[in-house]
Parts: sequence; C-alpha cells; structure tokens
Amino acid sequence: FKVPTAINEPVNAYEPNSPAVKSLLGKYKEMNDQDPIDVPMYIGGKEITTEDKRPLTSPHDHQKVLGHYNYGEKKHVEQAIDAALAAKERWEELPWEERASIFLKAADLISGPYRDKINAATMLGQSKNVYQTEIDAACETADFFRFNVQYMSEIYAEQPESPKGFWNRLEWRALEGFVLAITPFNFTAIAANLPSAPAMLGNVVVWKPAESQIYSANVIMEVFKESGVPDGVINLVTTGGANVGDVVFKHKEFAGLHFTGSTGVFRNLWKTIANNIETYRSYPRIVGETGGKDFIMVHPSAKPLEVATAIARGAFEFQGQKCSAASRVYIPSNLWEDVKENTVEQVNSFKIGSPEDTTNFITAVINEAAFDSIAEYIDYAKESDDAEIIAGGNYDKSEGYFIDPTIIVAKDPKFKTMVEEIFGPVVTIYVYDEDKFEETLTVLDETSEYALTGSIISQDRYAINVALRKLKNSAGNFYINDKPTGAVVGQQPFGGARGSGTNDKAGAKLNLLRWVSARTIKETF
Ligand code: GLU
Repeated sequence: FKVPTAINEPVNAYEPNSPAVKSLLGKYKEMNDQDPIDVPMYIGGKEITTEDKRPLTSPHDHQKVLGHYNYGEKKHVEQAIDAALAAKERWEELPWEERASIFLKAADLISGPYRDKINAATMLGQSKNVYQTEIDAACETADFFRFNVQYMSEIYAEQPESPKGFWNRLEWRALEGFVLAITPFNFTAIAANLPSAPAMLGNVVVWKPAESQIYSANVIMEVFKESGVPDGVINLVTTGGANVGDVVFKHKEFAGLHFTGSTGVFRNLWKTIANNIETYRSYPRIVGETGGKDFIMVHPSAKPLEVATAIARGAFEFQGQKCSAASRVYIPSNLWEDVKENTVEQVNSFKIGSPEDTTNFITAVINEAAFDSIAEYIDYAKESDDAEIIAGGNYDKSEGYFIDPTIIVAKDPKFKTMVEEIFGPVVTIYVYDEDKFEETLTVLDETSEYALTGSIISQDRYAINVALRKLKNSAGNFYINDKPTGAVVGQQPFGGARGSGTNDKAGAKLNLLRWVSARTIKETF
C-alpha cells in the first residue's frame, strides 16, 4: 500500500475578526465559562476517576479552575500496564495499514473538527498565545501523525536482498512488552507524539502527561478514541512520577521509555532503569529529549535588525518555554549599539496578557514553581555587579504568572544565566571583542553542557563554515541566519545530544526505528 504523501498542515493566521478567529475565541469562551470539568484517566478504554481530585488552572488566571483531574495511585499504573499488555496481541497483529488509517484519521480530526477545541484547551491550560498554539496543538500534532505514518510505511518497505534460492525478509515487529511515554507541558504536539509514535508501530503504551498539560491531553485522548485507537493501546494515567516509576521500572515487560522533560529527571530515570536491568526481558529502548541552553552566535558581518528579530522571537515566543528557545547570545562589539537598540525596541513593544486577546505576544509562564525559579534568576542578575538588565526585569504573580521579557547583559560568558537553563522569558547577551570570533566559538562550545539548538547569523560564508565546524557538537539543530526555534516536522527533524537528549530526532524515521525490533527471516528454497 502507498500511504498519502504527508504535507505540513497549513497554519491559520487567525486574522482579527476573521471567521476562524471568531470560531476559536467562541470555543475558548465556552470552555472558560463552563463548569469545571472532571478529567478521568483512561485505562483499557474505561474512564477511571478517584477520590483525589486536583485542580487544573489557567497560568494567566491562576484562580480560574478549568477542571479537576483524578490523581491516580500505583494500582492504576498496574491496571494501565495490564490493559496495555492485554491489548497487545491484537494490536500488533493488525495489518499496519489499519494502524496507519487510525492515525491519518486522528490527523484529520485534530486539524478539522477538533481544531478549535485542541487550540482553546492549549491556550487555556498552557497559556500559549494564539499563533504559538496553532503551530503546536493543531498543526504540529497533525504533522506528527501524518509524517510518522509515511515514515512507518517506508520502514516496513525496507527489505534485504535475496540471491536465487533464498528469500531474506525483515519483519518489523513491535517491541516485546509495553512503552512508557512521559510528556511535557510545553508542546501539546509532543505530548501527542510520544505515545502515538510507538503505538503506530504496534506497541502498547502507558502515557503519563505533565500535570499542566492534562487539560489538553484529555482532548488528545478524545481524538484517539474517535479515530479508532482500540481500548488499552494508549492508556492515560494522571499521577506523580514516583507512582509511575515505582511500578513501571520494576516490571518485566517494560520495553521502552519515550520521554521529553528535564535533564535531571531523565538522568534519574535512566539510573533507575539501569539499577533494574536484570528485571527486564529485553534491554529497554530509552529515548529522551531533555534540556537546552540554546544560543545565537552573531558574526561581525551580520545585519543588526536581523539579529534583533532573531533574539526577540527566538528568546520570547511562548515565554521562552521551548526547549529550543534562544537563551544566550554572543554579539560582536561592532554591532552592539545597533543590536541593543533594535532588540530592546522590539521586546518592549510586545504586548503582555491573556491569550484570549490575540494581539498579546507574551502570556504567563506555566506555574508557580516555574515563576519562582525564573524570578530568582532575574534577581540574581539584578544583584550582580557582572550583569545589567536592559529590558524587562519585572514580574507579578498576583493574577497570573506573568514575567516581563527580560534581557540581561553579562560581562562574563560563564555568568550563571549564560550557562544554566532557565526555561523562561530571559535571555542573556555577552558582547565579545569583534576580533575574537573564533575564540568566542571555542568558549561557546566549552560552555555547552547542553546541545539542543543554536544559530549563526552572518553574511560571511567563511564565518558560517567556521561556526559549523567549531560548533559541530554544540547543537543537534543548527540554524543559519535564523532564530533557533520553530522546527517543523518533516523539515527539521528535532533533537540534540550531550545533556539535551539521545538525539533520536522527533518527527523522523530515526525516532520510529527505536520502536521496532526487526526479525530477520531467511528462507531456503
Ligand atoms: N520543536 C520545537 C521548536 O523547534 C521545540 C520542541 C521543544 O521545546 O521540545 O521550537
């Protein structure tokens, strides 16, 4: 069978007063005004509730309770694994094109009848502005489903040569056991991709979303159900990481972890898995996309306005809460005054507030813990003699977790905010001597504990080439003359190495290959 050639879902601009924006905001209002909903767990196709109801709130209006989720116990994790394993045989034996069909339908649902609902849920629950929501929740989710279907068909088509007298075959089996997906708050699409990519290839999955994404995860589960994902194939459990880990990592049938989240958590999970390695039937596949300290490196030949736009967009889209967000910038002394003026002007023009007003660029950060941690970094810079704040610096959590987009200029390329991941609307700039481009590349690489994304801005081709070479291992996604965010499925496979993950490239064949276990069959005639 040939599957439809995947194309990226067109992005809706939601022009003011357009029918599309009216429809989206109508849905937003309806969901905002309705009584708080009860979000169940989904285990073996059944909706499971508990006595322990915990609130789901809006980051930009934290007293607003959108709903409650049902906090699960260890027994629910056990039930989810049992349900997954019970569903496994029928699911993996279903012809792959039937599985493909389910996820193609899911893509059409999410980008069609569910578009307003998934977008409104992401705006309300994760405080993304309308454009950031659209490119994530509606478009990237559909893209993951469609492109993964195409890659799956290409993987299954890969077969070895057979000389006369023999028939060599590769059977692309699912992993033996179940896969655990642990998903982040910052992309609804990633949350949808991490369980669905393994599932598509015949695996069964236990899915634990981040608390602050449960509200939109519930819509994704609705879509999975409506598109025909059978009961037990993807099981949603909403509980703490310890409850999940204590059960999953002691289970013989644990076959793989598909993770996006913090470096610290991922390292701890890896250690736990390592400590239990004799428990498992097979070596588990461990796939993780973790932290980042993403950079923009500017060459003296760059155009100041382009640099300013890359900083303003790259650092502050979605309040800097993308793993790919520009978080440190190296600017040559010859450009500094112009770049500074342009950047501060752009950043100070950003409107801040609720995503309901579609002209707001900046909304709230995800929760109080994130707010407090980001504010601490800002205070550290305020109090330091080695840094100066040239934009923003204020924050207020009285109604929502709002932090002004903040630009710090550091005197030292190893200043705390130049090297530590902040995951918020804060960028630090280091101004280097324009004659020290190559030396600065060396410092940049040496301070890259993470290696997720980065960009070089330059009009000079030699300089671009030097940066490509010297920063070879400093980023898994490298951009030339652009900001380092906004990877598109099917165009820029996403992921990095070092402290940023296993670099198994989300939205690429490489990722899907981690969820299959091939059997080689040789038949002699
Ligand atoms: N794909 C996103 C981008 O390139 C980032 C994904 C993430 O934050 O994990 O902007």
